[in-house]
Amino acid sequence: MAIQSIRLFGDPVLRTPAAPVVDFDKELRKLVKDLTDTMMDAPGAGLAAPQIGVGLRVFTYYVDDQLGHLINPDLDLSSDVDEEGEEGCLSFPGLSFPTPRAVRAVAKGFNMHGEPVVLEGTDLMARCFQHETDHLDGILFIDRMDPKQRKLAMKAVREAEWSGLSAPVIKTSPHPTGGKAL
Ligand SMILES: [Zn+2]
Repeated sequence: MAIQSIRLFGDPVLRTPAAPVVDFDKELRKLVKDLTDTMMDAPGAGLAAPQIGVGLRVFTYYVDDQLGHLINPDLDLSSDVDEEGEEGCLSFPGLSFPTPRAVRAVAKGFNMHGEPVVLEGTDLMARCFQHETDHLDGILFIDRMDPKQRKLAMKAVREAEWSGLSAPVIKTSPHPTGGKAL
């Protein structure tokens, strides 16, 4: 197990677009393992490399008992949108908010061996692909909310116990969250 500390909102790495993976090497396989271990430990439904401080286009997911990863993702989204689905983020511990997302997504990319893969998801899986790919572009779920919802979310962020912590937080016992954290 190689559990890494999860960067919290306010850390500049979460606002930095990640670079495409070029070398599908041992280091990349270690990154996928670290992401997987850290996501499962949190626990979360998804985790993107910038959330553990690595600026590469890699994410992992664990949705509907399906565990996987995707590298250099490229998304095709349905035009129908779920406006009300609750969404959380491991970089915003304990918080979840309604966040509009396309209902279906096709995610093209590569596995850690450099083989092309195509993943299809609906509902939570589609939501996860969109949330994690956004992380790779430095976009956070608060950016996807309508202005009124974003205002409520930012108020909750300011009031959160972890808000304003610049150093990595030492993990204590996990506590349940309202929505699925990604
Ligand atoms: Zn997130």
